[in-house]
Parts: sequence; C-alpha cells; structure tokens
Amino acid sequence: MSEQSVASGAFARLLLSGALLGGVVHIAFALLFYQGGAITMAWVNVGSVLVYVVAGRMLAAGHVGWALATMAIEIVAHAVLAVRMVGWDSGFHFYLLITIPVLLASGIMRWPAKIGSATLIASIYVAMDWYWRRAMPLHPLDADTLRHLHQFNLVSTITVLGGLTVVYVQLIRDAEKRLHRMATTDHLTGLMNRRSLVDALEREQARRLRKPHPMTVILVDIDHFKQLNDTYGHAVGDWALQAVAGVLKKGVREMDFVARWGGEEFLIVLPFADGTQANPVAERLRETIRTIEHPGRLPLQLGATLGVAEVGTEEDVEQAIQRADAALYQGKHQGRNRVVIAEAALV
Ligand code: GH3
Ligand code: MG
Ligand code: MG
Repeated sequence: MSEQSVASGAFARLLLSGALLGGVVHIAFALLFYQGGAITMAWVNVGSVLVYVVAGRMLAAGHVGWALATMAIEIVAHAVLAVRMVGWDSGFHFYLLITIPVLLASGIMRWPAKIGSATLIASIYVAMDWYWRRAMPLHPLDADTLRHLHQFNLVSTITVLGGLTVVYVQLIRDAEKRLHRMATTDHLTGLMNRRSLVDALEREQARRLRKPHPMTVILVDIDHFKQLNDTYGHAVGDWALQAVAGVLKKGVREMDFVARWGGEEFLIVLPFADGTQANPVAERLRETIRTIEHPGRLPLQLGATLGVAEVGTEEDVEQAIQRADAALYQGKHQGRNRVVIAEAALV
C-alpha cells in the first residue's frame, strides 16, 4: 500500500468517525430543542443528521472529497445559523475552528484549495466575531440554557481538537516506523539490508572497544545462482533467496545479525562467538541449505559456499569481512558447497 493511500485511508476513517459523532450530537440537539419548544432549531438539527447520513454514505462509496466538502459546509452553515439564532455566547462558532486543521491536513486536496477553504472559514469566523458578538440574537435563550450550551460546545470543541491531534501524531509515528522499516530491511527477504548491518556493526565495534568479546563473521554466497535464474527464471531465483534467507535467520540466535549483503550474498555476524564456535554453525547452515526443496517440486538443488572469519582483537570488522570473502573465493575454486575458514587475522 502506498504512503498516499495509507494516509487517505486514515483520513477517510477520521471523517467517518466525525460523521458518526456529528450525527449523534445533532440527534441529541434535535431532542433538546424539541423539548425546549424551539421547534425550528429541532428541525435544523434533524436536517444536520440527514447531512451526516449522506456524508457517511459518500465515505462508504469512496467519495472522500465530497464527504469532506459536505461536512465542512454543514458545520459552517450550522454554526452561522445557530450563532445568528441563539447568539455568539452559545459558542457554536467554536466548531468552525475544528474545520481549519482538518481541511489543511487533508491528503485529498491541493494546497490552493486547502488554503482557500481554510481562509474562507477563518474569514467567516472573524466576520461573525466582528458583527454578531454583541448583536441581539433572533431567538434569545434564557441565561442558564445559554451557559450550559456554551460549556457543552466549548468542551466538545476542545475534545475533538485533542482527539484530532492524537490521531495525527499517531499517523506520523506510524509513517516514521514504516519508513524506518523500509530503509533498514531488504524488501525481498525481510532481512536487514547492508546499510543497517553496517550501522549495527559500528555500534557493536564501539561496544567491543569498551568491553572486548569474540566476534565472527560468516559470508554466504549461493552457488551457481545465475544458472538457477537462467534455467528456472527470476521468480524461482527470488524464491531461492527467500528460502536461503529463512534458513540463515532460523539457524542463528536472536542476538546474531543476518543481512542480505548483495545480490545472492548474505553476511552473518555472531557477536559473541569465536571461530571454533562459529565453524559448526556455518557447517550446519550449509547442510540445511542443501535440504531446501522447491514447493512446486522443481528438481533443483541449492548449495552455498561460506567463508568464516573471526574478527581479530584489534582488527576492523571490514578487514575480517575481506578475509571471509577471500576464504569464500577459495571455496568456490575448490568446488563450492563448502565452509572455508579464513586465514587468521594479523592482529
Ligand atoms: P557462483 O557459484 O560462483 O557464486 O556463481 P553465481 O552464478 O552464483 O554468481 P554470479 O555472481 O555469477 O551471479 C549472481 C546472480 O545473482 C546474478 C544476478 O542476476 C542474480 N541476482 C542478484 N540479485 C537477484 C535478485 O534479487 N533476484 C534474482 N532472482 N536474482 C538475483
Ligand atoms: Mg556472488
Ligand atoms: Mg553465487
């Protein structure tokens, strides 16, 4: 799913919650006004409920833009009407303030449309404040009712603004997490990618400097992979990469690192294992790779050559990786499908 569709999906869900909330609140208002004898206001609220039903159906049909416009118009028209009828002190104008961040943050409009609609609503708010703050309402309410209405509108506006902020912060967090995952994992195999392993190695190296501990790297290269691709096609090649990645990941401990290092090469880092501990691990991995079977029963036999190098006490990990690579190269020349231990580090 693309970033855009994730964001607009979340926005549609947000609007749907708004439509539901709007519908419920206006049913409550309709009943209150009906009981209080303000029949016109009761009908206005029934109209609003219908508008939210229509907006909900638009959202269900995927017309997010139309639903947003319908809801924004309802809120503005309702607020203007209510302020004129029962007065500025009712606090119905607060609801206009909610529409501005929602319009500006919506992922479905272009900036000129967002800024234009937000400016229009802000101007209506300012104009109402200018002309109607001290104007006599058409249907004045008694002081007590007015106070309660004001408190209700104030609290619901604050609640909705707070809720919106939480939703938006959560959306940003989720997007950050997704981006981080995309930047650090290999798309095909789900393993760490080369860059994130290099980062992890730098952290591990710093830790080793403070508190020395053994560390071994194993470079794994699938044998005759090009031939596999050429014979069975790229999709089977991709499946083989995923299958080998699975074997490697399952074959080491949680604290070990396994990364896709290049096309059909993988690098494993065992941060607390010396060469003698790592060699049997490499051997076991090699054997397990031999047992991989194609789910569609293609008669193929996977194999890999592995180079193992214990990182010297004062050696850079990069140097150890180079030694593992040289060992691997040697293994390819000796006939592949084998584990070769690298020459000892000089330091
Ligand atoms: P050797 O036994 O000496 O390692 O030979 P090889 O064929 O495995 O090695 P070579 O380097 O000649 O070929 C590696 C091939 O891996 C070439 C490249 O097209 C393929 N490859 C790299 N990345 C991918 C990938 O993501 N998917 C698939 N299907 N193939 C890939
Ligand atoms: Mg290779
Ligand atoms: Mg290869």
